[in-house]
Amino acid sequence: MRPQTLSAQIVLPLSLAVIAGSLALVGWLSWRTTSDSRAAFREQAAANARFIKRSHLPPSDKLARDLSAVLDFEVTFGPWDAFGDKQRRSPGEVVRAGLDREVVLLRIAPDTGALFARPRPSFGESLARGSTLVPLAVFWGGSLLLATFLSRRLVRPIVSLAGGVGALEATQGAPAEFPGAARRDEIGSLARALSQTHARLIEERSKREEGERAAMLGRMATGLAHEIKNPVAAIRLHAQLLDGCDRCAESAQTIAGEADAVESLVNQWMFLARPEPPERREQDLAAILDRCLAAAEPAAEHAGVTLVRRYRGQMRAEVDAARIAQAVRNLVTNGLHAMPDGGELEISVTEIDGAWHIRFADQGRGFGAEALERWSEPFFSTKEGGMGLGLSVASEVAFAHGGTLRVENRERGGAVVSLQIPIPR
Ligand code: ADP
Repeated sequence: MRPQTLSAQIVLPLSLAVIAGSLALVGWLSWRTTSDSRAAFREQAAANARFIKRSHLPPSDKLARDLSAVLDFEVTFGPWDAFGDKQRRSPGEVVRAGLDREVVLLRIAPDTGALFARPRPSFGESLARGSTLVPLAVFWGGSLLLATFLSRRLVRPIVSLAGGVGALEATQGAPAEFPGAARRDEIGSLARALSQTHARLIEERSKREEGERAAMLGRMATGLAHEIKNPVAAIRLHAQLLDGCDRCAESAQTIAGEADAVESLVNQWMFLARPEPPERREQDLAAILDRCLAAAEPAAEHAGVTLVRRYRGQMRAEVDAARIAQAVRNLVTNGLHAMPDGGELEISVTEIDGAWHIRFADQGRGFGAEALERWSEPFFSTKEGGMGLGLSVASEVAFAHGGTLRVENRERGGAVVSLQIPIPR
């Protein structure tokens, strides 16, 4: 449906009403002027007939000519019966005679009549005679005043109310003040009702978000408890083994490894559960990547994966090095897990539109359909023993730095995960 503005919807009927009103006014003024002029004509004819009667002047052609010369109309005398039926039936009344004349017939003697005739006043003439312009000007002035009043008091406030509703998104969660709230009419009530509804909506939304956050924390806590059980069981077992101690060194190593796993899990969980603003310092992303990749080298070698570095030189950014390193570790680990039979994991960095794009491209099977949808959910995992925190944490790290994490599958197979970090100006 084509949108229609309120002003357009008011202007057309108002203009039609003004045109119709003007025509009706002109018609009425013309009718009134004509009636007044006929009444004057009737009066004048009657006065002249009385004068002739009283003066006992003979109704001659000469008298008729003389009277016609001083009056505004023609005068004719004649035998009463010689005048038309219509005129005789209504003596003293103005009667139409033909298309463009009107007459008044009066008896001036028992068998003599005097006929007063004049041209019928035309529409334009009667308007010109009466003062039409003043009432018309008053009517138009009144219409203009009404239009201004409607525009100022009704249309404009409603338009600015509609504008206020349209700008709600820009209030960024603060209750909006609608224009016109101070008015004491229906528009004021509407503005106040809108303000209250908006405030209530914000309250409801924040309650819902709180609820969702609490539900998510609950799910995370359950997932965390589940994930912690396995390493803790291993720690307990190996601690018991330390008692008899044949292979102490091996058990101690297992205990340390599992303790590291618990610590990493708790750290990652804390990233999500209580995200604090990153401690940003100027860093070289290349150096962070180098450190992470060097640490991952033994695991990569074990998995038969070659880490291919496609970046060079310094890449300055203001970041929290520990968090970026955590995200990088998670993405490299995912790349290694995606290629159990070995392959290449390419790590490249490019600068696009004021942001560093750190890409991790592997040659694995790519994201499954469900993983493509749900990868950002904490504890979502399709891996045997997977925690489902790696991508959520990497995404949270990107978000905390004002960037994003994107995942996609490559056309030739494999996945690309891209960590985008804005470069401060
Ligand atoms: P986890 O690795 O513990 O499963 P993540 O959050 O890191 O948790 O990953 C969630 C899911 O996303 C994985 O279980 C997997 O299905 C998918 N995924 C992550 N990285 C890749 C990748 N490089 N290739 C294919 N699938 C991946």
